[in-house]
Amino acid sequence: MNHDSYSGRLVSRLFLGGLLLLLLSDVCWAADANIVAFDVSPAFEGQNLVALDVTATLRADASGTTTFLLPDQDRGVSDLWKFVKDIKVDGAQSIIEDGPAKRIVKSAAGAALKLHYRIVSAFDHDPRERELDPYKPVLRPGWFWIFGEALFVYPDIAGASAQFHWNAPRGYPFASNLEHALGRPMAMNDLIQSVLVGGPDMRLFTRQIGDASLRVAMIGQYSFTDDDFVSWTSRIVEGERKFWGGHEGPFLVTLAASAGVPRGTNASGDGRGDAFAIETTPNIATRHLESLLAHEYFHTWNPARLGGMAQGAQEPSSYWFSEGFTDFYKRRLLLRMGVYSLADFVTDWNLALTEYAGSPVRLAPNSEIVTRPWDGNDMHDLPYLRGSIMAARWDHELRRKSRGRRGLDDVMLAMRADAARFGDKSPIAPELFVEMAKRFGLDVHADVENVIEQGKPALLPDNAFGPCITIATKPVPKFDPGFDLVATSRNGGTVVGLEPDGPAERAGMKEGMHIAIEGAPGNDSQKPLAYTYLKADGSEGRIVFKPEGREMTTLQQLVLAPNLSAEQRAQCSKSVAG
Ligand SMILES: [Zn+2]
Repeated sequence: MNHDSYSGRLVSRLFLGGLLLLLLSDVCWAADANIVAFDVSPAFEGQNLVALDVTATLRADASGTTTFLLPDQDRGVSDLWKFVKDIKVDGAQSIIEDGPAKRIVKSAAGAALKLHYRIVSAFDHDPRERELDPYKPVLRPGWFWIFGEALFVYPDIAGASAQFHWNAPRGYPFASNLEHALGRPMAMNDLIQSVLVGGPDMRLFTRQIGDASLRVAMIGQYSFTDDDFVSWTSRIVEGERKFWGGHEGPFLVTLAASAGVPRGTNASGDGRGDAFAIETTPNIATRHLESLLAHEYFHTWNPARLGGMAQGAQEPSSYWFSEGFTDFYKRRLLLRMGVYSLADFVTDWNLALTEYAGSPVRLAPNSEIVTRPWDGNDMHDLPYLRGSIMAARWDHELRRKSRGRRGLDDVMLAMRADAARFGDKSPIAPELFVEMAKRFGLDVHADVENVIEQGKPALLPDNAFGPCITIATKPVPKFDPGFDLVATSRNGGTVVGLEPDGPAERAGMKEGMHIAIEGAPGNDSQKPLAYTYLKADGSEGRIVFKPEGREMTTLQQLVLAPNLSAEQRAQCSKSVAG
């Protein structure tokens, strides 16, 4: 499951967990398998939704002791059990609390049990910007939003599967990816990794794309219309399905906005297997959402259907492929679909190249991404940046060697075919890529070793994107604001980590001074930073400086040939997007 967040800037800043998942697990159900049948229904006071009532029927464990697990913690949210009320179990001899998130139920061995409980809201108001958290249940009079992680109490019985039923008055609006398996047993994990939204304040749209439906569920008001959101979501889903070919299952996108006037722009997206859930501030720009959706939907294939990733603690070692190639394709496919103009494509690439050039961890080896994956945004973003640059470089090499007949697209499609053929025996995606590139005539071993593993600079060749786009390469000072921007920001703006004689101090910043921080500079050493602060006499002071460090780095930027006619632009887009 993945969780990519954007916060006040175009370049993604994500907090991602295990990226695996995506497909409904391919499980064989033995005839005597223990199926836990969940039934969820809205509870009202008058017209107003006040809770969700859940029942689950199942057979007790053969030992006569069945452990039930309550919603607990996920992605930094803790104590989700607080929103579970009135647990009862019909058929139980006793129920013992084993900590707040566990119940031990004693009964006759294999007895028929019926579990009842109620889920209440984490909020008594529409959540505001600072409260956005997709894992917390929101039940409001006219709408609700809940993840399976917060909704389901389930028995810890090996091999138990789940069945889901929604039980509401006719016509009560509802959407969940659990409906994709309605009436069929599913793995308990698929039940848990779900999203459910509904209520009269939710708008639901359905589009048929090829042989599978896309549903879009929207809550809240935005700067764009529902129609616009549905139409470009459809375009992105259609464009990526077309790239991969083949048959797809139904997909659900849920979008909910925070209440009130936001101070910044925030959006967080969560992959839910066959759904994607986005919570955002209402002022989110179309461009952010397009980029987020195109990236996330590509994860339907990469890496799960291309061989998967390294397991456990080693997982981040695969991010250069799973995230970097996903970002490369996000840009390429948005251009191919016509969602990005050539200028948008150039802008998106240039932000990424600027962030990479100025990154303080630009030359960190891949092993540091594994051992320190959450060490700030720069370490987090590194595999996205490095991987996408190398994808562009290898695509160029593949085309050059084959005189334009083959490219990275062919390698990716061949990987998908191989991964499907060999299933669990397939090498993981980054290894399969190396193998497959070789079959297509490109040996990337040395690049992977030098650039990805050891951290040597990732650089684009001069003509990486065809004749209309040149790559300008020049030395620039490394990005260095001269104070600890991240810690100061976390501190609420009280300056810490001021570097003696650094750019900030030379401009008049002092340790302990209180400054207003807005937006993120994206590691751009050439763009001046400006901060306001309160002077002793109550007036507002302003500090402006270029965040140029003493060391140098290599900055590459895409430059679009000037004065292209519309026809030439179309031609260029085609040659760049393939
Ligand atoms: Zn991602």
